[in-house]
Amino acid sequence: MIRVQRLVLLFCAYYCCVLDLVSPCIYKYGTSPDSLSVPRGGTHWSYGMHGDDWTGVDAAGKPWICLSGIRQSPINVPTPHSLEVRGNSLPRNLRTRWNYPTIYSNGSNVEVINNGHAIQVEWLSPYAADVEIVVPVRQSSSTSVTAVLGMQQGEQSTTVRATPTQFHFHTMSEHLIMGKHYPLELHIVHKITDLPACASGCYSVTGVLFELTDDGDNPLLDSVWAAMPMREGQINFMPAGAEIRLGEFLPPAKVREYVTYEGSLTTPPCTEGLLWHVMMHPQKISRAQWKKYKTAVSFKDCALKNASSTAGHGHHRHHHRRLLAEEEPAGNPEDYTCKVVTYDFNYRSAQQLYGRVIKVARVNQ
Ligand SMILES: [Zn+2]
Repeated sequence: MIRVQRLVLLFCAYYCCVLDLVSPCIYKYGTSPDSLSVPRGGTHWSYGMHGDDWTGVDAAGKPWICLSGIRQSPINVPTPHSLEVRGNSLPRNLRTRWNYPTIYSNGSNVEVINNGHAIQVEWLSPYAADVEIVVPVRQSSSTSVTAVLGMQQGEQSTTVRATPTQFHFHTMSEHLIMGKHYPLELHIVHKITDLPACASGCYSVTGVLFELTDDGDNPLLDSVWAAMPMREGQINFMPAGAEIRLGEFLPPAKVREYVTYEGSLTTPPCTEGLLWHVMMHPQKISRAQWKKYKTAVSFKDCALKNASSTAGHGHHRHHHRRLLAEEEPAGNPEDYTCKVVTYDFNYRSAQQLYGRVIKVARVNQ
């Protein structure tokens, strides 16, 4: 049922765009890449200003907090060494543990979605991943999923399970390392429900950066890239037999360094209270793989053919859409011509820290 609703939403967004012939339609309002909620109404948004213009309301009319929040993501991450020197080391007993089994496709259980904002992968069958986040043994009803950031070595701890719900990509990277962007960032989104304060769901996101390589395609990306929908609103099933070795996107546990902090969704409504993990060692992506991703989210200019003759006032009916020039737009494809305006980027700019604590889990501690 959820899937049907999402399909309806995607197609509705399509046709709303196509049928709204007077006001310009700039980008589709897709599902929020960093949440599973399906918006019904609410303010449209785009990456045109990389988030600096994100004022609006969600589907329930509640204002976004993107510009007013003080625990927003992404951030510019200092070097692990500098964090360690400042005493922000995370003891081993307080570290998150990740165990992602391989995701196997049977041809109808793994979706690759182009929602107009990002390429996102979701699975329709249960995925028994085992990700454990440390929380205090002594909890109050308000103990949050970010409590580990305030815990001390030796403090009695237990863990809660974080269940992966989807993953998606951003280009450029959203997190910066010492002011440096990377070409791509993977976000694995997890939901936590077994804390009293998280009964309706708290989120934790794990970020993995990618750097360019000339050594050929990264085989870990192959299965998703092969199924990547190049048109906004398009959903492809991964073919039967395809697999995603999600666990291999993280560095091996023995050499795993990461930073963790309290942040937010990086898309509207920019909800806060998320526990973030950002891996320090980047993965590799080839230039060809990067180009394909940029093309999938690229910015296309589609115009109705013969617009001036039908509008009556010489009104030029442009529809800016993320469609491949060589592919057909939605609606009545023969009515439109499209051209790629530019490759686009789907990242939000780095946010101020406002004194937040960033902890680092280093290898040799
Ligand atoms: Zn994201």
